[in-house]
Amino acid sequence: MAVDPLIELRDVNKHFGPLHVLRDISLTVGRGEVVVVIGPSGSGKSTLCRAINRLETVESGTILIDGEPLPAEGKDLARLRAEVGMVFQSFNLFAHKTVLANVSLAQVKVRGRGKREADLRSRELLERVGLADQADKFPAQLSGGQQQRVAIARALAMDPKALLFDEPTSALDPEMINEVLEVMRQLAQEGMTMVVVTHEMGFARSAANRVVFMADGRIVEDRSPEEFFTAPESDRAKDFLSKIL
Ligand code: ADP
Ligand code: MG
Repeated sequence: MAVDPLIELRDVNKHFGPLHVLRDISLTVGRGEVVVVIGPSGSGKSTLCRAINRLETVESGTILIDGEPLPAEGKDLARLRAEVGMVFQSFNLFAHKTVLANVSLAQVKVRGRGKREADLRSRELLERVGLADQADKFPAQLSGGQQQRVAIARALAMDPKALLFDEPTSALDPEMINEVLEVMRQLAQEGMTMVVVTHEMGFARSAANRVVFMADGRIVEDRSPEEFFTAPESDRAKDFLSKIL
């Protein structure tokens, strides 16, 4: 596994003031791999995701996307950022734009596609996430699960090499969680490289190639889901699992 690294972090460190939120983080995500990141609240999971997309700067260490170091700014940063799509807990759709326009917008602005081409691609992707019939609605007319699937279609519309999900189902009512996880499972099966922060342990068991357990800004365990769930090594992971399982 991880013979062909797509996302690589080497000795990454970050503070928020006195708080050391990322401590010597080294992590390699191979092409086609699904890595689920779990850990207690405040352990640095979101900061890790945001650092991979340079939504947060880091103080030391290197982050590489498909072998290219992520620069601090400039054209190369914008290009590499577009290679890694991000899906957040809050869907962040434009309320005053239709579902179709939400998926098409960045294709025109960032990828330079014509509107017709972008709309065609958007309709394909909406079909893929099971929302072909919702294209002309506005976000508020959709359920939370549907809105999150639009957000996934929007991320896919940039043709990313990898997708990061930061608790994509945490804001959803229970009955909507599965429809989002199902789309994510399908993407995983199709070979999409994914980093997924989630508390959905069923997803971690069934879809992850690796589970990364974080605590206090460190990666404490990085193992297969079978190993992690049946025989966690660290006290931190044992304690965490005893609380959530
Ligand atoms: P997680 O996603 O695992 O819950 P986060 O990465 O969001 O953890 O946060 C890690 C730590 O950094 C927490 O203690 C949080 O309060 C702190 N933190 C996160 N963002 C900021 C910020 N912008 N400024 C100051 N502290 C922050
Ligand atoms: Mg978080």
